[in-house]
Amino acid sequence: MIKADFVIVGSGLTGSTIARILTDHGQDVVILDRKDHIAGNVFDYKHESGAMIHKYGPHYFRCGSEKIWNFVNRFSEFYNWSSVLMSKVNGEYLNWPVKESYIEQIAGKDWNLFQGEPKNFEEACLAKMPRQLYELFIKGYTEKQWGVKCTELDKELATRITINKSNVNTLTPNHKWNALPRNGYTEMVSNMISDIKVELGFDYLENREEVIANKLLIFTGPVDEFFGHKYGKLKYRGQKRKVEHLPDTEEYQPYIQVNYNSADDPRIRTIEWKHLMHEDDKKNVKGTLLTHETPFTPESPHQYEYPFPDKINKSLYEQYKQEAESLQNVLICGRLGEYRYYDMDQAIGRAMNFASDILEKNGITTTNQTETIV
Ligand SMILES: Cc1cc2nc3c(=O)[nH]c(=O)nc-3n(C[C@H](O)[C@H](O)[C@H](O)COP(=O)(O)OP(=O)(O)OC[C@H]3O[C@@H](n4cnc5c(N)ncnc54)[C@H](O)[C@@H]3O)c2cc1C
Repeated sequence: MIKADFVIVGSGLTGSTIARILTDHGQDVVILDRKDHIAGNVFDYKHESGAMIHKYGPHYFRCGSEKIWNFVNRFSEFYNWSSVLMSKVNGEYLNWPVKESYIEQIAGKDWNLFQGEPKNFEEACLAKMPRQLYELFIKGYTEKQWGVKCTELDKELATRITINKSNVNTLTPNHKWNALPRNGYTEMVSNMISDIKVELGFDYLENREEVIANKLLIFTGPVDEFFGHKYGKLKYRGQKRKVEHLPDTEEYQPYIQVNYNSADDPRIRTIEWKHLMHEDDKKNVKGTLLTHETPFTPESPHQYEYPFPDKINKSLYEQYKQEAESLQNVLICGRLGEYRYYDMDQAIGRAMNFASDILEKNGITTTNQTETIV
């Protein structure tokens, strides 16, 4: 029997952050995870080549909130690192997001925007950029990413597409902190939960009767799976990843991430891990290590990555959400629980808010914890 006041299913950033804050306030917490490792989707490890690799795709940390920044700095040192992403278009590396100066270069000064209320992703894009730009950078990439026509995707997806109005090349120049944990995310999460009991290789849904949460069960897995898919299965996209070690090549591409926009190339992007590493560690890598990513629609929840942005899945999720909210003593949250893409800082910030609510509802006085763990 596994018994605690607070049972947290999932050791990703959401579960681990809530676990940390409840433990800081003297609460009895246990974490369960069905994977054989902690840290969920941000799990990383040292490859035999010497390169640090993120198993579930590259994770670039950025943050604008001092509260979140101070929180993560309790568990790891960080080094400054800003991501520069490129799209390979007609053999040339071009900035992604597209630089404002480049728009004029390809579309001139005189171009028209889509008029009226956009009904889908394509129209929402054409309401903010010239058609030439949309076709060169976005259409092929997006249709490859989601496996459907852009006109079938929700217009809200276009809110994530930005134009780079600054002169710098970085992906997120407006965030105050662009940085990476010195020894990786797994070590950071390990420090976060070092004094908390964790059961790995334990699937909560297959062993519900063995678990007792006296006060609250916090579930950060897929919400439809929690309810036995009773209304249907929520759709996700994922990436097939091919890891390639080139022992005799110093550099494969000049950037961490190169996107392939053309429909002719099945890859969507290639990551060269060296570019992500601290200068002191880079020199210890033998050759170079790459991951080539190709989108697909996964069946296994271990491969769920991006919630599918269309109306059918949106309304299906609403059904699960209503049912989840009606449950007593269960909180379903996180990227899989809320069927929503959250950047890491957003996931941590949201988890901090959930933890504060839990403490308040249980009459526990909150304190500002600043104890440094590392
Ligand atoms: C491809 C990709 C790239 C990303 N890149 C970035 C980036 O560059 N920058 C950024 O800020 N954010 C990025 N993110 C977002 C980031 O991954 C999330 O914010 C973060 O992982 C959310 O953590 P979580 O704890 O909610 O979910 P997860 O990390 O998925 O954790 C959920 C955990 O629950 C466990 N679990 C599920 N069901 C069960 C069960 N039944 N029993 C036991 N355990 C269970 C899982 O095994 C998992 O460990 C990216 C996301 C993806 C998909």
